[in-house]
Amino acid sequence: MKLLPLHPQPKKGEILSSWMVRLALENRFHLHTFYSKLLGCKHPIWTRDVDRSATADLIHLLSECSSCSATKIEATTLRHYDGYMYEDVRTHGVARWIVPLGIYHRLHRNGMQCCPLCLKEEVPYYKLKWRTSFFTLCEKHRCFLIDECPNCKAIVEYHRLGIGKHMDVRSSELHLCSHCYFNLSETPPVYPPRLPESIVQEYRNTLKQFENDSWSRTLTFPTTHPLAFFHGLRGLLMLVNKRACVELRKNINASVPLNLPLEKDWSPEFGYLTIRERFNLLMACFWLMHDWPHRFVTILKMSKLSRSRFAEDVAQFPFWLQQPLNQYLDQRHYIPSPEEVNSVVDYLKSKGIPVSAPSVAKVLGIGRDFARTFNSHWNNRN
Ligand SMILES: [Zn+2]
Ligand SMILES: [Zn+2]
Repeated sequence: MKLLPLHPQPKKGEILSSWMVRLALENRFHLHTFYSKLLGCKHPIWTRDVDRSATADLIHLLSECSSCSATKIEATTLRHYDGYMYEDVRTHGVARWIVPLGIYHRLHRNGMQCCPLCLKEEVPYYKLKWRTSFFTLCEKHRCFLIDECPNCKAIVEYHRLGIGKHMDVRSSELHLCSHCYFNLSETPPVYPPRLPESIVQEYRNTLKQFENDSWSRTLTFPTTHPLAFFHGLRGLLMLVNKRACVELRKNINASVPLNLPLEKDWSPEFGYLTIRERFNLLMACFWLMHDWPHRFVTILKMSKLSRSRFAEDVAQFPFWLQQPLNQYLDQRHYIPSPEEVNSVVDYLKSKGIPVSAPSVAKVLGIGRDFARTFNSHWNNRN
């Protein structure tokens, strides 16, 4: 494959599909013709999630025709966050922390997320981090991201630009809505509300870590390892988002003005939610993580949530989340062995304390009614 006459390089933090669209448009080609006829790609590209599963062949081909190194191209795919947000993005099914594009959920269909103000800058392009469900704000412009056109409500799908009547789209026009050609960078920015304890600021600081590819130790989180942080945060999100956890959401709403929905049909999967719904859930979790684990434990107890209500398999979570669940929220019955009960009976007798359900319960740290079920141990031995 020969070098293309025009081969713009990926912009800082650009996502693969955005660069691929710019590459085709820059050379004045229709996207599909460009990749299938001109470059001879054998496999379908645009019906799959190319940012998640670009093949080595495709990366090699792009490298040859653009003179951009394969390593640099690889870094424009979602594999870039392997070992950071998730272990391996290529795992089948709904990938953790990835916005599933074009999937209908309730009345909402996910489009590519973007910041209207970032699209205003020199050459408009789309960023890799916007594909992650953790991003709901632009950390630079402080406004909410958008994923649909404010004019026609079509989702943001830049790979559809140049299809149909409006064939003549330039590579510098990725800020256009592919449906009505509204300039998305003209979308009036919407800013998040003020929330207690600077949680929005804390969230923005976390988003900034992506810019530097570094996980600062100055962040006040229960863990300093990004993979463990995101893994545990996912557990917290699942809990706050659980259908049955109405009481928990009620208790959070009483302290933070987030208006988390209280209906029981609250949706289960984070990545499918709207940008605002995801923002609210993330803020609830950031608030819960303050003064870790004391606030978390108190709110869970107030909401009558125990370790087993949190998840069936707590061992799947990282240590920082497992630990308070095991230490403070484990309400499973501890069942003493017959030997333990016998030795407690002997101990009480040796101290001259009358052996009864209340006295045995006190030493074993179990309930009196439960202790009564062991009464044969002392009745038979008296
Ligand atoms: Zn921005
Ligand atoms: Zn539109």
